[in-house]
Amino acid sequence: MTQAARKIRLVLELRRAGVTDTRVLSAIERVPREIFVPEAFQDQAYENTALPIDCSQTISQPLIVGLMTQMLEPDKKMRVLEIGTGSGYQTAVLCRLFRRVYTIERHRELLKQAEARLAELKCHNVTAQCADGTRGWPEQAPFPRILVTAAAPEMPATLVDQLDEGGIMIVPIGASVSDQWIYKVTRGRGGFKEERMSQVRFVPLVSGEAPAVS
Ligand code: SAH
Repeated sequence: MTQAARKIRLVLELRRAGVTDTRVLSAIERVPREIFVPEAFQDQAYENTALPIDCSQTISQPLIVGLMTQMLEPDKKMRVLEIGTGSGYQTAVLCRLFRRVYTIERHRELLKQAEARLAELKCHNVTAQCADGTRGWPEQAPFPRILVTAAAPEMPATLVDQLDEGGIMIVPIGASVSDQWIYKVTRGRGGFKEERMSQVRFVPLVSGEAPAVS
């Protein structure tokens, strides 16, 4: 089976599993996942699974990318903050659905690779930074949308504070891998609404910058 055929099969699978927003499906269809996946896993680039990347991290499962992006209610007029660039795959999907993407990764090596891939795909509406994403991006806040792609032990207060009025944040929360849930936080006029969405498995959100690789 060719990569193109595998990709069509994956998009159909995501639709059956609940990704119904056609803009999200078409963004996923337009991003070549194989360039974000290590050489050794090329044959699995369009399987619906997370795969290992450098620095003991993972590229997220396509279904989770689809569901989280859909929960964000993307809007081409909006800016979005992403915490946990990783391979840059989710970033590339966001680039097609938002006006500008601000993305933060704590591993410099991963960010360098992700930026090269995003440049190759001509995703010019991304601003990336190597830093501790738990602090958010105060200079650019508030954000109408925030997406966290690593599991926080509890609701990250600093990020909630950087959410604009009417804004939505999607964040996996859970102290242990076996008990993680995606939460949707909506900031209204009078306060916040928290909804528990689906159960997931993410690598942890770690405070502080990663040490440089020797
Ligand atoms: N969406 C990415 C998922 C990568 S895994 C993809 O599909 O490729 C989560 C990423 O979050 C990892 O790369 C990890 O290094 C990063 N991360 C964890 N804690 C972080 C923090 N505090 N600040 C920034 N990035 C963080």
